[in-house]
Amino acid sequence: MNHAIVIGASMAGLLSAAALHAKFARVTVLDRDAMPDDDEHRKGVGQSRHAHALLARGHEAVERLLPGITAELVAQGAITSDVQRNARHIHCGQRHARVESGMTGLLASRPMLEGQVRRRITALPGVRLLPDSVAAGLLVERDRVTGVRLAGGEPIPADLVVDASGRGSRTPFWLDELGIVPPAEEHVMLDVRYGTREFRRRPGDLDGDLIVVVAPTPDKPRGGVALAMEGDRWIVTLVGYGQAPGRSLAGFAEFAADLPALDLHRLISTAQPIGEPQVYRNPAGIRRRYERMTRFPDGLLVTGDAVCAFNPRYGQGMTVAALEALELLKTDLRPLPFFKRVAKVVDGPWQITVDDDVRLLHAASTLSLKKRLLNAYLERFHAAAAHDQELALRFQRVANLYAPPLSLITPGSLVRVLRNGSPRATSVPDPESVPREASERSTRST
Ligand SMILES: Cc1cc2nc3c(=O)[nH]c(=O)nc-3n(C[C@H](O)[C@H](O)[C@H](O)COP(=O)(O)OP(=O)(O)OC[C@H]3O[C@@H](n4cnc5c(N)ncnc54)[C@H](O)[C@@H]3O)c2cc1C
Repeated sequence: MNHAIVIGASMAGLLSAAALHAKFARVTVLDRDAMPDDDEHRKGVGQSRHAHALLARGHEAVERLLPGITAELVAQGAITSDVQRNARHIHCGQRHARVESGMTGLLASRPMLEGQVRRRITALPGVRLLPDSVAAGLLVERDRVTGVRLAGGEPIPADLVVDASGRGSRTPFWLDELGIVPPAEEHVMLDVRYGTREFRRRPGDLDGDLIVVVAPTPDKPRGGVALAMEGDRWIVTLVGYGQAPGRSLAGFAEFAADLPALDLHRLISTAQPIGEPQVYRNPAGIRRRYERMTRFPDGLLVTGDAVCAFNPRYGQGMTVAALEALELLKTDLRPLPFFKRVAKVVDGPWQITVDDDVRLLHAASTLSLKKRLLNAYLERFHAAAAHDQELALRFQRVANLYAPPLSLITPGSLVRVLRNGSPRATSVPDPESVPREASERSTRST
């Protein structure tokens, strides 16, 4: 094969190009944005100003697509970290036991990560990046996509077109124009509001921990994350369902004071703020069911947020995009087999976000008995994970997309949950009120 076009030069598009490069003599990546020379924010990726991390599975996939990129990023200040050992995970108000997980996530600002991926892609022979180029339509011959038409009218022929243009993808409209029924869409209405601020990071902050995740609960539908990143900075994103963190520093700290744990509030109250506050609003999670279509033109694939845009609170989007890019390395690039493989990648993370969002957004009395039982089980699971390192580890394997959500409900997990999830069991204390060694000893005792 000769020429592939990728629409969108964000993470899904760039990683797709890394995979297609192995199969096509030429790969053209189009983006409507001008591409910055340095690692800067750009208009098409507004989310880059908010906390971004690569889950361990995504980190592994990106390294497989672009060998050596971790070392290059670390040389520029990015941080690799065990996702559990150097982290505070607080779910259902329970502080998970600490354990060496063997899973390594990557912490870097989104512009730095995307910038380095872009430099690697554009250095590949046969790959070219076309900035300031809007894909306005498809070229089609007898039910086969044969290229892209740019906004100025210029046609670019290709053997394969991959749409990686994000949640606003035009493919459903283009299919409609061709007389093909667009994919069914599933929406989870969210109204999640984000506020982000950066802070100066000092060596003793958070006892040397690098990651804090405080998940919202039905009683307190507010949460947040703090991630260490290059330049001795923290990026702190606070999240509210139907409620936004204040824009002023005092309002931001006040919001953090009412989370299910106070770790982020303490950090915000003591660290020096840098730069301006940023806000973002996410009305819905969207999944487009391409794998269920019966008619779809050859020569066209869709990937990344254009297939499924998750609630970003779970940090899954770039990892899913990387796993989908690995699917482009396989021999069969016919659309429907590709979409079926993509659906398998998306199923687990989509289930995680939908189940958790439903739990947070709907009163328990409105849920089915099955959902109520599941939620009650998960509360016990997190209470048990505060004492049981193995359960904390199993949760991280799911959160990092190595294991399906159902792996939390195996008979083995059930026994451990019943044994350790009793409301009478004592949670692991807040590390800032207990020296680290004592806190770790107490988690190992079970
Ligand atoms: C607040 C927030 C926080 C997040 N945090 C995380 C995190 O911690 N970890 C994680 O893994 N993921 C996170 N995500 C998700 C992550 O940002 C996306 O999943 C990731 O960027 C992959 O998206 P994408 O490349 O498919 O689309 P996008 O990033 O949306 O990029 C689409 C690209 O297509 C271009 N484009 C669009 N239309 C056209 C067109 N017609 N012609 C040419 N170009 C076009 C745009 O300019 C853009 O460059 C977060 C998202 C949000 C909103």
